[in-house]
Amino acid sequence: MKQFNNQMIVEFDSVSKNESFARVVVAAFVTRLNPTLEEVADIKTAVSEAVTNSIIHGYENKDGRIRIETHIVDDTVTIVVKDYGTGIADIEKAMEPMYTSKPELERSGMGFAFMEAFMDELFVESEVGKGTMVTMRKVIGRKYVM
Ligand code: ATP
Ligand code: MG
Repeated sequence: MKQFNNQMIVEFDSVSKNESFARVVVAAFVTRLNPTLEEVADIKTAVSEAVTNSIIHGYENKDGRIRIETHIVDDTVTIVVKDYGTGIADIEKAMEPMYTSKPELERSGMGFAFMEAFMDELFVESEVGKGTMVTMRKVIGRKYVM
């Protein structure tokens, strides 16, 4: 059977106004896979968390660019959120639920935990001073066997 393959790349300024743009544009792109409302909500939440992290932590609210690459292969969507900001020194620690480097901003440290819970796979790559790349993958329309 022929593979269905489709890619979308979008890049925008690191401003909080673009959080909603980012989640809507990815959700619209994924519509082709006929996702359930729940699957769309999961993807929107995960994209929001990743983009918010780039804005708040990656660029610390200063100017920067955020790039999202979305790739669909058959029923699987891969979403890559990239920034060229501060980077993460200890990725393992950063990914622990409830760990936040900004408790003074009343962050709860749950962003990565949400991305992990709402997507099937999550990979984080980062280099201090260079930036961060979050890769998330989800299979759409999977029939769960309980
Ligand atoms: P919440 O997401 O609940 O508001 P949070 O953003 O602190 O809180 P996570 O999203 O889980 O929690 O991120 C954990 C930590 O990882 C952050 O506090 C920050 O130190 C680091 N981090 C996450 N994303 C980035 C990024 N793009 N650039 C630099 N540091 C990051
Ligand atoms: Mg966060």
